[in-house]
Amino acid sequence: MNLHLESYSTGVTAKELAERRREFLEIGRRSGHFPSASARQDGVDSQISVWCSNDYLGMGQNPQVIEAMKKTIDTHGVGSGGSRNIGGTNHYHVLLEAELADLHGKEAALLFTSGYTANDGSLSVLAGTPKDTIVFSDEKNHASIIDGLRHSGAQKHIFRHNDVAHLAELLAAAPADRPKLIVLESVYSMSGDIAPLAEIAELARRYDATTYIDEVHAVGMYGPQGAGIAAREGIADQFTVVMGTLAKGYGTVGGYIAGPAALVDAVRTLSRAFVFTTSLPPAVAAGALEAVRYLRNSDVERKVLAENAQLLHRLLDEADIPFISPDSHIVSAFIGDDETCKQASRLLFERHGIYVQSINAPSVPLGQEILRIAPSTVHGREDVENFAEALRGIWKELNIPTATDRNWLS
Ligand code: PMP
Repeated sequence: MNLHLESYSTGVTAKELAERRREFLEIGRRSGHFPSASARQDGVDSQISVWCSNDYLGMGQNPQVIEAMKKTIDTHGVGSGGSRNIGGTNHYHVLLEAELADLHGKEAALLFTSGYTANDGSLSVLAGTPKDTIVFSDEKNHASIIDGLRHSGAQKHIFRHNDVAHLAELLAAAPADRPKLIVLESVYSMSGDIAPLAEIAELARRYDATTYIDEVHAVGMYGPQGAGIAAREGIADQFTVVMGTLAKGYGTVGGYIAGPAALVDAVRTLSRAFVFTTSLPPAVAAGALEAVRYLRNSDVERKVLAENAQLLHRLLDEADIPFISPDSHIVSAFIGDDETCKQASRLLFERHGIYVQSINAPSVPLGQEILRIAPSTVHGREDVENFAEALRGIWKELNIPTATDRNWLS
């Protein structure tokens, strides 16, 4: 008997290891392939047309943003030197937080190194303070929200996606004297549909609940000065905390919350994801600041994005291709099969030089696979037409169910 193979010091047998390896391989196989595709100004990466970038407004290529970052590297170097509380707070962090608070009409804002950590770090504190808070969370909320809520240890109720009646039912059933927190997104990241914000705000008022809204896929893109969907609807003041990213509409990296000073200060003090990590490099904060200021003053990018999204919605409708929602610029063409979805993505890439990532589990549930199409300002009218035509061809070739087949009204 070969003892070495039979057992390791952890007590895991070679057979168990082999099984785990098979399981890892199986999980890994579910993932699509991820071509290296960093779009240039014209949306092309070595002849590849990119249709899944979150740099929706081209701010990652904006000359003013680039210049701001270059200048700051020259004056401040490339790193921040520490966590925010120990030597890593820079002039640009402070300016950016003031700008974001002002954009959202809130008392204060707080930066994180990503949108993920902003949600995780903020909710782990906000949902757990006071300790007996009950959380009401939309079933399609992003993984970073789910993780933050888990870390808070708070009691949690999940309401059906965008289902106001279900949320009302859950709120009514909860003890009146317990503090309540409602957590939602404005534009949902995978389906592109928009939450019924006014109705949810009304419920929050009725049940005296705090509200936390993730506007990651909206800031920069919607609302006056790019302040998001709640601002577009004129009800930003009815949401206690707004959360956003600097990595999508603002083209750089980082995340933030904005809200009442007392809540923001509590997160600043207690959030492990804020306290125990190195802060954003000054040049990133300077670039993001430039992007936020630029989009407060320019509507051009928002207009081009809206036009491209509307054109794509119309062309997909004409091609009878089912997509989840016409509410926003996130156009999720529904395939609903793991292998077919990956194949569609691969064929678009190989035949047409189009890169659109297939979205598989765990980003969506198994059987709900989509091509998450993101038109952006780098695409012209002709690009949108060519894209829709290519997609129509792939749909036919792979015999993917059409909207009519699915009896689907988008
Ligand atoms: N919230 C939502 C709804 C998201 O879709 C994402 C990322 N896709 C995040 C938060 C995390 O943002 P970031 O990429 O800046 O970490």
